[in-house]
Amino acid sequence: MIKFLDLEKTNNRFRSEMDSRIKEILDAGWYLLGKWNDTFTKNFADFCGVKHAVGVANGLDAINLIIRGYGFKAGDEIIVPANTYIATILAISENGCTPVLVEPDINTYNIDPEKIEEKITERTKAIIVVHLYGQAVQMQKIWELAKKYNLKIIEDAAQAHGAIYNGKRAGNLGDAAAFSFYPGKNLGALGDAGAVTTNDSELYQRVKTIANYGSDRKYHNIYKGINSRLDEIQAALLDVKLPYLDADNARRREIATYYRKHISTPKIILPKTYDEKAHIWHVFAVRCENRDELCKYLNDNGVQTLIHYPTPPHKQIAYSEWNSQSFPITEEIHRTIMSLPISPAITDEEVKTVTDFIINF
Ligand SMILES: *Cc1c(COP(=O)(O)O)cnc(C)c1O
Repeated sequence: MIKFLDLEKTNNRFRSEMDSRIKEILDAGWYLLGKWNDTFTKNFADFCGVKHAVGVANGLDAINLIIRGYGFKAGDEIIVPANTYIATILAISENGCTPVLVEPDINTYNIDPEKIEEKITERTKAIIVVHLYGQAVQMQKIWELAKKYNLKIIEDAAQAHGAIYNGKRAGNLGDAAAFSFYPGKNLGALGDAGAVTTNDSELYQRVKTIANYGSDRKYHNIYKGINSRLDEIQAALLDVKLPYLDADNARRREIATYYRKHISTPKIILPKTYDEKAHIWHVFAVRCENRDELCKYLNDNGVQTLIHYPTPPHKQIAYSEWNSQSFPITEEIHRTIMSLPISPAITDEEVKTVTDFIINF
């Protein structure tokens, strides 16, 4: 069986260092907001090339906290790609703001910068870009629009740890960025974890405070905050893995290069990149007219695949008010997309096996 993602193998590469950090934390008896949170957030901010990072409980909270930190509220509109993972949209809804869906570019699967301006109104406050599947959004046009209409740019960088656009990393391409360290992400914890990165020192203070009960010092609350903190254990383990992230992403790039070179069949639409450094291949997504058949065929032959994602947010029961709306490009992607195994744990031989099965489909 070729697993879609072998987390045990991925994380066991760091076993002895992780064991010794966990032992150190057990010995110290300090579990929240301590040395490892400080160390990891500083190192992660440096990695992204930004001034600040706040450790939070997960990626959804990271987006939510940025929206709260900027004070966006009911009636405010936030632009978001229609084909994102639903978390991006839930974070907008959670704040009572209105998500305004924009179609993606069928070539990159990222928000189509040419379709944003027509959706901007008096009420628009921000654009959330999602670096989907690990490919950084081409920001130039979006930077121009944000300047012209005085909008904040929020990055959902949950799939893009280390991706580069114009010499800058994801996390440093807007006003603030949300990261998830869900176990399956390119930088994954051993549980839930997330971060907000920003160069905006005021936002940094607000997010940090709101995430800790709105408390700027113990038992002194200046916001109606939430509890969303990064545990010491998760911070310490993420800090073990961070130095290897670029090498892991390079390995993913190598696998992606192999797939793109060797999967030559008209039945498959391969993913495209505008720049090799822009993509960290969180997901290797291909499109196929007979997607469900191909998934079954691969599965029957011992190759696990996944679909990112089978149903677009506007067709979910949770957003029944949108169910009759139509986003044809988004729907076409969801109808045909599927993801092949890609991770630092997969071997060259396995990559070749997957490729050969697909060619023979
Ligand atoms: C994983 C993910 C999230 C949510 O992260 P969690 O840590 O699971 O809350 C948000 N947006 C995107 C695009 C994601 O892939």
